[in-house]
Amino acid sequence: MDNPMNYDDILASFPRRRLAFLPTPIVELPRLSRFLGGPRIYVKRDDQTGLAFGGNKTRKLEFLVGEALAQGCDTLITGGAAQSNHCRQTAAAASVAGLECHLALGGEAPEVPGGNLLLDGLLGATIHWGGPRRKGEDIPLIAAELRKEGKQPYIIPYGGSNPVGALGYVEAAREATAQLAALDLGPAAIVFASSSGGTHGGLEVGARLFGLGSRLVGVAIDKFGGEGPSLAERIKDIIERTWALFVDAASSPSRKGASPPQPAFEPILREEFLGGGYGVVGEAEREAIGLAARMEGLLLDPVYSGRAFAGLLLMIRSGEFKASDSVMFWHTGGSPALFPYARDLLP
Ligand SMILES: *Cc1c(COP(=O)(O)O)cnc(C)c1O
Repeated sequence: MDNPMNYDDILASFPRRRLAFLPTPIVELPRLSRFLGGPRIYVKRDDQTGLAFGGNKTRKLEFLVGEALAQGCDTLITGGAAQSNHCRQTAAAASVAGLECHLALGGEAPEVPGGNLLLDGLLGATIHWGGPRRKGEDIPLIAAELRKEGKQPYIIPYGGSNPVGALGYVEAAREATAQLAALDLGPAAIVFASSSGGTHGGLEVGARLFGLGSRLVGVAIDKFGGEGPSLAERIKDIIERTWALFVDAASSPSRKGASPPQPAFEPILREEFLGGGYGVVGEAEREAIGLAARMEGLLLDPVYSGRAFAGLLLMIRSGEFKASDSVMFWHTGGSPALFPYARDLLP
């Protein structure tokens, strides 16, 4: 390009409230690698983003809370499953930023709250139980109620997955590109759990902008059933809208360069590891969680990273990588959910 845009500057122009310890480390799993007969396995430790037990949502929340504060909002609302890592990190982000937090959770109040739910309570979030509605269906209702009370709510969608949230993973791709270059590593694939699309979409856009060459492989954790778009369609939609957000910022009158052209995206989503469905721990997840823990002292989670790591193990065992390859597992967090799943995890 004759007039290359400075993508770092464009990314830095979005409102952002720092919440995470960054960069997160990249570590190798040599014992597990040897046990499997290669490839070299690395882990990007986004379970260590630092905010209230960490996880991938903290990166998205930096940009979402940044926008909430820029808009003068005083309350965050989001929703998810009872053991939602996203809701727990949102509650913590609200505490850090001095905002109120309301959570629309699926299910009913248990007698003793455990795992993420205990943390939601400690962090001071107000919980609204939704029974079968575990994907934030009640958020608009709660927002309307809060507005009547004179509050200024900022709505964070299910999983924090909209273009603003995805900017967190555009930034993460920038971070990982620099780290991998410094380590002189070029993983054949980067494998991660994909569930509401923001992590996957942001990584795709960031990889393109910052030149991350590895194949990005999302492992689907959940199926969006019913009438709505599929996860693959949601990811494509987030990619397009995140790209558009970036292009708009790039072509603002204060910047001179040409907008980055929209490339073709072909996100890879592996949907064959869904097992018993969302949040159901099966033999594959149990084995993956056990192996990572016993061989490397690495804790995965029962719903997302355990399933995605089980997918990676299957890819390795079925010969998808050469022994001389390296692969990187992007750990997205979720460890507080280990505790309420205790019964499913040990033999
Ligand atoms: C939310 C979550 C994911 C999925 O990320 P999305 O951006 O929603 O696709 C993966 N792992 C963990 C631990 C999560 O909490």
